Amino acid sequence: MHTPAIDLGGTFAKGALVDENGQLTRTWEVPTGAEGGYRAVVENLVSLGRKILGTARLMGESCLVFGLAVPGLVEPETGIARYSANLGWKDLPLADIIGERLGVKVKLSQDVAAGGLAEHRFGAAKGAHTAVVVPIGTGIAAAMISKGKPFQGAHGQVIELGHLRMSWSDEPCPCGGTGCVERLASASAIGRRYLEALAASGEPIPGESHPQANTTPKPTNQAQTVDSKYVADKAKDGDPLAIRIWNEAIRALAEGLHSVVTVVDPDVVVFGGGLSNAGDQLLIPLREQLESLLTFQTMPELRLATLGSKAGVVGAALSANEQMC
Ligand SMILES: [Zn+2]
Repeated sequence: MHTPAIDLGGTFAKGALVDENGQLTRTWEVPTGAEGGYRAVVENLVSLGRKILGTARLMGESCLVFGLAVPGLVEPETGIARYSANLGWKDLPLADIIGERLGVKVKLSQDVAAGGLAEHRFGAAKGAHTAVVVPIGTGIAAAMISKGKPFQGAHGQVIELGHLRMSWSDEPCPCGGTGCVERLASASAIGRRYLEALAASGEPIPGESHPQANTTPKPTNQAQTVDSKYVADKAKDGDPLAIRIWNEAIRALAEGLHSVVTVVDPDVVVFGGGLSNAGDQLLIPLREQLESLLTFQTMPELRLATLGSKAGVVGAALSANEQMC
């Protein structure tokens, strides 16, 4: 069996035919085209969908339900994409629109929930009773899979770990809150906060070549970015600023996870996305701090994701497989 699926991201749409073991037998990648507005995104989805379906039919597949994972707020039951700031849609009946154009049923899922489902079925959370899967990249999201089913609330939300607020931080967040976990601990936040701390300290900014002696450091701007790996490496080398930024990220994650563990009682928590590349540098202090915060709650196992960037498309296919064609 080869299930056609697309994982729509803000920049690229990843298409695949996914077999029953979660392996990708064919893959495609095209630009999302979000700069052209939601109509352009829909056209790109239809054109990619046709290519994938054409290949599936050539491979002898006739009973086809298309899996489509998209970011933002999603209602899997009705197939309505409730909201995505990046893709410019609100209350769009996306499953019906794409399904009509492709001539097959489309099962819509939320991308973080889909990725979590895939990690639970085939990846690091396999066998867990209740898994929380946390991708950490430009933002921080989380999916909960309990007894094999992904959780989504009444309005399409998953586990919004990234927007739990830390009272010790006044970092503003685009969501309107302050001190949100993702403003302190996402991979992008760690890079941004390190550069800001560097600028405030008067140290030279990395990437500014040939710094002149006795010049005041320039403030950071969009062109200067460092990633979380840079900060992690600096922290390993003993750079005090990097150590402070890294420790604050770990503290925010540990405190955010304390709330999640208290509310949903997972036995496994899986970390994915760019920040998970830090491996033990992330997991060891996080485990220690989370354990110190827990009292009556049971400490979950903390693991690293194993499916990488294919989790979303595999999860989209898994959701599609639950529907009759
Ligand atoms: Zn927020």
